[in-house]
Amino acid sequence: MAVIGAGYTGLSAALHLAERGREVVVLEAADIGARASGTNGGQVIPGVKHDPDTLERIFGHDDGSRLVATAAAGPDLVFELIAQHRIECDAVRTGWIQPAESDEALAELAGRVEQWRRRGAAVELLSREAVQRLTGSQHYRGGLLDRRGGTLQPLSYVRGLAAAALRVGARIFTESPALELTRSAHGWSIETPRGRVRAPLVIAATNAYTGPVCDALRRTVIPVPSFQVATAPIPTALRPQILPCGQAASDTRRLLRYFRVDGSGRLVLGSRGTFAQAPDVRSVQRHYRAVREIYPQLEGLPFEYHWGGLVAMTSDHLPHLHELAPGLLAGLGYNGRGVAMATMMGRLLARLALGVPAAELGFPVTAMRPVPLHALSGIAVRAAIQYLRLADAVERARRSP
Ligand SMILES: Cc1cc2nc3c(=O)[nH]c(=O)nc-3n(C[C@H](O)[C@H](O)[C@H](O)COP(=O)(O)OP(=O)(O)OC[C@H]3O[C@@H](n4cnc5c(N)ncnc54)[C@H](O)[C@@H]3O)c2cc1C
Repeated sequence: MAVIGAGYTGLSAALHLAERGREVVVLEAADIGARASGTNGGQVIPGVKHDPDTLERIFGHDDGSRLVATAAAGPDLVFELIAQHRIECDAVRTGWIQPAESDEALAELAGRVEQWRRRGAAVELLSREAVQRLTGSQHYRGGLLDRRGGTLQPLSYVRGLAAAALRVGARIFTESPALELTRSAHGWSIETPRGRVRAPLVIAATNAYTGPVCDALRRTVIPVPSFQVATAPIPTALRPQILPCGQAASDTRRLLRYFRVDGSGRLVLGSRGTFAQAPDVRSVQRHYRAVREIYPQLEGLPFEYHWGGLVAMTSDHLPHLHELAPGLLAGLGYNGRGVAMATMMGRLLARLALGVPAAELGFPVTAMRPVPLHALSGIAVRAAIQYLRLADAVERARRSP
């Protein structure tokens, strides 16, 4: 079997297939984890964007609750794989915090907490004081703590998945872009600059970086830039104040800001970026200001790194699992929550490839639906980012006395 793309989706699929004795070849255009899987915020977030009640409304009670359970189990799978394969990636499982900037957002979080608690999940509402204690920031009105989540070093995790897949017999070819995918007598044929791979089954695991090789698939997601900055290591005296228990945090803004402290004690904060190849000064400065706004006590601490990547958004805000043609599978569209969900998707793809009936997966296998006017999506995303930034600013102005 062949997998295109060596991020979490592709490597999790390869690992699960090779563990069951299948011969697997992974083709990666660049390097292992070179795109989103090696550059993300390292937040291990349970579930998808929609709340559980909404999913049950969309899919009906039975299918909806299976989907809720599958997506919620993503962090379990991630931390199990880390333990099982002894992946050294600074993994910490003390939870994921959603701090609320407004009372309206806090009321919405209370509803979310209630929905998860009805399903027995370890999710709780935090007072303003509790958020201050756990994050070290006085910026928020309260929040949600989901104890199922956590943090990890994203590149170390994806490299660990690759090492685990290699140990059970998968073969990974880096700098080997799939240039053309055609149906052949025995399944599929993939052209690369260095040769051809023939396989009865192919998994496309290219997410926001899907190119013309799977052009119809490319048009089902909208790539949106996300951008991060990292400070110098936080001084020892301040360290016990800032996220002392090691949680990850993503706030409730429309253009949300996500942050954590990494293994070397740097504050890493991300938000929406720009499409520019090199990040523009305004975007970098905006992220610096966000750090100072949330953590004024870090004023003067230098910034040492910045980087970005593309997130794959879908029009229904859900990840998608498709059978594009007989023997051609794809999983993508994590809407910025792919650390756990892409790992889970890799396992779902492997199970489907191994012959598990779609109805038993616990996740819907859907037909591809191109995003309407996809060619204009870049323009639309730029406009949407400006609009959402403005809406966040208006809301802040309305709240301030
Ligand atoms: C800046 C940023 C921050 C994020 N933060 C978080 C976070 O904190 N928590 C969270 O849950 N999610 C986060 N995400 C999302 C998460 O990183 C992704 O959803 C996840 O990594 C997707 O994994 P993937 O394997 O599907 O895609 P990728 O990791 O992007 O892998 C796709 C691979 O396919 C390869 N490829 C593409 N075309 C070809 C081809 N023709 N031939 C061969 N190879 C090809 C690419 O080179 C790439 O390596 C973030 C994303 C970004 C960009």
